Amino acid sequence: MNNNLTPAQVEGLTLLMEECGELIQACSKILRFGPESRDRLQKDWIPEAGDVLYFIAANAELLGVGRYQLKGAMQDKHERVQVPGRLQNIDVDSLRNPATIIRL
Ligand SMILES: [Mg+2]
Repeated sequence: MNNNLTPAQVEGLTLLMEECGELIQACSKILRFGPESRDRLQKDWIPEAGDVLYFIAANAELLGVGRYQLKGAMQDKHERVQVPGRLQNIDVDSLRNPATIIRL
């Protein structure tokens, strides 16, 4: 594979993919069994979400992505989901802007 990535970048991306997989599994189990079942929110979803956020931040640093670029991408997404009809069940007006919740 000739991807011009350093070993650290390869490891960072690999770990991010693994953590995303674990978060996907935690989301799936909440959908199947509910958040109260075996305390899945506290024991699974929150730790895995933290792992994903950690490796997103680590990968940003490893790949030379500035925190303001990430914050800008989050702000862009926040604006895109506010287009009427984009989300069917989530009242976007009731949510705080995630870009302001997760401080980068
Ligand atoms: Mg994990």
